[in-house]
Amino acid sequence: NNPILEVKNLRVSYHTYAGEVKAVRGVQFSLEKGQALAIVGESGCGKSVTAKSIMGLIKAPQGEMKENSEILYHGENILKYNKKQWQHYKGGECAIIFQDALASLNPTMRVGKQIMENLMGHKNMTKQEAAKEAVEMLRMVGIPEPEKRVRQYPHEFSGGMRQRVMIAIAFACDPKILICDEPTTALDVTIQGQILDIIKNLQKKNQTSVIMITHDLGVVANIAQKIAVMYSGIIVESGTCEDIFYRPRHPYTWALIRSVPRLDLKNKQELATIPGTPPDLLNPPVGCPFCTRCSYCMPICKEEMPEATEFGGEHKAACWLHHPMAPKVEMPNLEGG
Ligand code: SF4
Ligand code: MG
Repeated sequence: NNPILEVKNLRVSYHTYAGEVKAVRGVQFSLEKGQALAIVGESGCGKSVTAKSIMGLIKAPQGEMKENSEILYHGENILKYNKKQWQHYKGGECAIIFQDALASLNPTMRVGKQIMENLMGHKNMTKQEAAKEAVEMLRMVGIPEPEKRVRQYPHEFSGGMRQRVMIAIAFACDPKILICDEPTTALDVTIQGQILDIIKNLQKKNQTSVIMITHDLGVVANIAQKIAVMYSGIIVESGTCEDIFYRPRHPYTWALIRSVPRLDLKNKQELATIPGTPPDLLNPPVGCPFCTRCSYCMPICKEEMPEATEFGGEHKAACWLHHPMAPKVEMPNLEGG
């Protein structure tokens, strides 16, 4: 199976007055047609910068994509695209949904028209066909009274409804890759679940490849086949959903799993948080970036970056605990709280 998207050795920096922030430091992953990958990590770990890179949104002079970074779409490096190829790619091959729908929608255009423009532009529909399909798409994303709603403007929708409109607009482009950057973070839990179901159903129906960016491991179990756990600009563990939830190998993944809200805990106070803060990416540590927060930290961890150990299939983790010279450590109890 040829992957639709392959990211290799992606390194991205931001230049600030304080110095060079090394936001993404050698990210690598692949995505197949129809597959959903979740990239999970705390804010500032580089997951959104990774998404922006794939969308071609890293802009000089502040943003800099380092030499030898590769983003292969159907085997071709998009970083070498000419203007025309970019237009084609960004115009519809790859779409993105952000957390803040209000900021991304056109406030002066009726939502129906925003959907229709994409349908006419990307699916070659006539105006009449597109008008009919726009109503159907609003119905498909669960918006009541779609015949009436197509004529309204973005500000007339609630947060959850607006996120549905965003999804309809994105799918009207018929994208091959859809990136969702914290699409449900601002919404309450019930609506979150509904929105994720809509994305999942449309993804299945259209065989779209999805990259779900989130800080909440709890939202990905139902939607992703693969998970990449990011910390301080690096993927520290990756594998199938089962690998990550049932056989996690990295202490940071253990901490993330423990911090997933559980329905059987009465109040959020009981939620485990991960003590400490991520390293400063102006001066990233030479060794393991998690060493300041890791209760298993050994002297080697501070001196050298751990290489990824493979555990079969696509399951990998970069941690010194898996070196033959490390002491044997059992996976801790991850039952929340
Ligand atoms: Fe912890 Fe060391 Fe593993 Fe880093 S390499 S996660 S510090 S045990
Ligand atoms: Mg972000």
